[in-house]
Amino acid sequence: MTFHDLTIQEIHQKLRSGELTSVKLTQDCLERIKATDGRLNAFITVCEDEALTAAAVADQQLAAGHEKLLTGIPVAVKDIFNTLDVRTTCASKILDNYVSPYDATTVTKLREQGAVIVGKLNMDEFAMGSSGENSAAGVVHNPWDTERVPGGSSSGSAAAVAAGQVVATLGTDTGGSVRQPASHCGVVGFKPTYGRVSRYGVVAFASSLDQVGPIAGNVEDCALMLGVIAGYDPADSTSVDCPVPDYLKNLKTGVAGKKIGLPKEYFIAGLDPDIKKAVDAAIATYRKLGAEIIEVSLPHTDYSVACYYLIAMAEASSNLARYDGVRFGMRQDTGEGLIGMYQQTRTAGFGDEVKRRIMLGTYALSSGYYDAYYLKAQKVRTLIREDFRTVFEQVDLLLTPVAPTPAFKIGKMVDDPLQMYLSDIFTIPTNLAGTCAMSLPCGFSGEGLPIGLQLIGKPFAEAEILQAAYAFEQATDWSDRAPGL
Ligand code: GLN
Repeated sequence: MTFHDLTIQEIHQKLRSGELTSVKLTQDCLERIKATDGRLNAFITVCEDEALTAAAVADQQLAAGHEKLLTGIPVAVKDIFNTLDVRTTCASKILDNYVSPYDATTVTKLREQGAVIVGKLNMDEFAMGSSGENSAAGVVHNPWDTERVPGGSSSGSAAAVAAGQVVATLGTDTGGSVRQPASHCGVVGFKPTYGRVSRYGVVAFASSLDQVGPIAGNVEDCALMLGVIAGYDPADSTSVDCPVPDYLKNLKTGVAGKKIGLPKEYFIAGLDPDIKKAVDAAIATYRKLGAEIIEVSLPHTDYSVACYYLIAMAEASSNLARYDGVRFGMRQDTGEGLIGMYQQTRTAGFGDEVKRRIMLGTYALSSGYYDAYYLKAQKVRTLIREDFRTVFEQVDLLLTPVAPTPAFKIGKMVDDPLQMYLSDIFTIPTNLAGTCAMSLPCGFSGEGLPIGLQLIGKPFAEAEILQAAYAFEQATDWSDRAPGL
């Protein structure tokens, strides 16, 4: 049985009618993982026994008529979410054997809704990267072309959905890490407003930017997943106490009369021609659906990448100071005293990209440089935020590409970090502004690689983005295709 063409609600119908059981569905997923993950490397840990036990419980609940939103549905989470009893490595040697004493709030919410958690997904180490190549667990491959990257840092989260290994996943998005891999893998990914979803129990990278988001095969499933994980959490002081709308209920509202803005700074000369073509076609589709298309400007866009990398690295250097061989994960100690132990542990435990960021971030925060770099970046961030506030006085949504090129070849940019950082140009500004955005399939390149469309909304206007995405998905068939693995 393939669940690729089915939504979660359709799978539920089959589970209810007895045509399918959660145990069977979970076994199918485990088989699929065995058959494909040698080529993809999307999983760091597969929890076969735990998953089958949870599936059996789900089947009992279904039989008793106690069905919740995700009862019996196989999902997986990025290995950055703390899970009780299953290790959380963050794709780093330093946390190789780390087992959290508690579940992340989002994981608890998945479990409360009956989800079957099949495993923990590969990623760029500590979520630092755009390609899935910075992982101590090995490179992740794109299911559409295994010689190419799946995007990052939620690389496994996107690849697993695209490959039909699980129905939906969770990722995190600090500068594009849900949207960009979703785009490169031809699936749907959502970065909610900062504060919409709890970050409690999610290993911190850059705390003022990090946000949890779902990845799924279609807009409806993404809406359902978002509804499950969204909401205030007293354990996360940055989560916001405002009601969560029913994202499924008004999904079919359409876009007639909506004003959609095209920020001119996002339609730049360097844009890959296939991407330009696909996004132009998407604009035409929205016109046909009755939206009004307006050119707008986000004048400080050019400063986003520099601003983001300063802030993200500064926050990372501070957040990652806790991995010192004392409290978490591995320790390396040849008896050269406390400082020696710190040095040895961190030298052996962190990968190159993580070290690069800790050093650059520490530099940006150090006395004498703080004002010139970190403080300046914070001021620029305010200007970028203002750009979005102003533009949302004119339009309801923004439409842009997700990435300037389709998935690139593995190895192409590993020696050129700056080029790699520049590939985040279209996703980073939303994180700096703290607002919400989504990536959904809108076409394929000449080489058959998926292309994503980004919709950006006002803060807490997740429902509006989902409605516009749903209308597009219904009017096109891009989400129906699956890679021929
Ligand atoms: N690619 C960006 C970076 O390397 C974004 C990462 C993310 O969103 N976690 O920082």
